[in-house]
Amino acid sequence: MESDLEVVRRVNSRGGCAPHLSIRFDSHLFSIDTSRSPKACVQPDAYLITHAHSDHYGKSAMLSPKAIASVETARALEIRYDREYKGRTFKVGESVMVDDVKIDTHPTGHTIGSAAFSWETQTGLSVLVTGDVKDFHYLPHCDFLVTEANYGDPYDPSCIFEDDLAGFSEALESGASFGAYAFGKAQRAVALMRAMGYKDEIGMDAQSLALTQELMKDTAGPLTEVNGGVSNVVTPWNLPLVRGRNKFFLTGRRDTSYPTIQLSDHLDFRGLMKMIEHISPQEILVYHPEGERASLLAHHLQECGMETTSLDLVEKFVR
Ligand SMILES: [Zn+2]
Repeated sequence: MESDLEVVRRVNSRGGCAPHLSIRFDSHLFSIDTSRSPKACVQPDAYLITHAHSDHYGKSAMLSPKAIASVETARALEIRYDREYKGRTFKVGESVMVDDVKIDTHPTGHTIGSAAFSWETQTGLSVLVTGDVKDFHYLPHCDFLVTEANYGDPYDPSCIFEDDLAGFSEALESGASFGAYAFGKAQRAVALMRAMGYKDEIGMDAQSLALTQELMKDTAGPLTEVNGGVSNVVTPWNLPLVRGRNKFFLTGRRDTSYPTIQLSDHLDFRGLMKMIEHISPQEILVYHPEGERASLLAHHLQECGMETTSLDLVEKFVR
């Protein structure tokens, strides 16, 4: 690790690690996709929230005035958790100042409002934190990359996939309804349906409807309550409520009781490798998800000759 930058993790009240990490550089401490530090603990200068999925811990970080999230991420957090977002917002692509540090933000195509963050230390070392990524083409070069590995296991065949857009289009034409998680996948499904020329009302359950109406104001087209339209997009556990038999679960999972159509919010393993080549960092930290995928990708990258570590090996802690 470059000497002017260090990765640390907070120790929580049970003696384990708080989620994800903090980066200490110059006189600053940025916490990333982590829960809010209790008052007695070291406080960061900023909580960077990459997107509103629950495993990135915006639910607690959103309550800090030091939270930084995109306008859409902040709004999605408010709808999902019925709490007021207390931090600062940006439009993805804009920059945000934290004291004298300019943080640039970049779209990642993972959810509406998902953003990567980049900044430079005083000695000119560039840092990029990706969050979860579907489209890496807007991400800049950096020296130190902090990235995900949701499908980072090089030995797992399920980490190699392509979205089945032909299957989705065929199902749509046959009047199918779709099971999709309310934040992220549901909006991707609606966007795809409109891109494929579907103009009728789309039926949605309450949470999916609230999120999609709010986050896709100008682009969602006509939406209505479940079974009010020809096709429905509902959370998977609400699929039994949808009339008719023509139903699909939009997922890469294979353990479902409904037939599935492969539609992912993530890069597959090959995509992650292409992303890393595109960013061409000097050093990599794989930070997400918890579990062995991060260390498996880190190990693979080491074998490819890249200086890489994973979050489970970080040994510096703060309280
Ligand atoms: Zn996510």
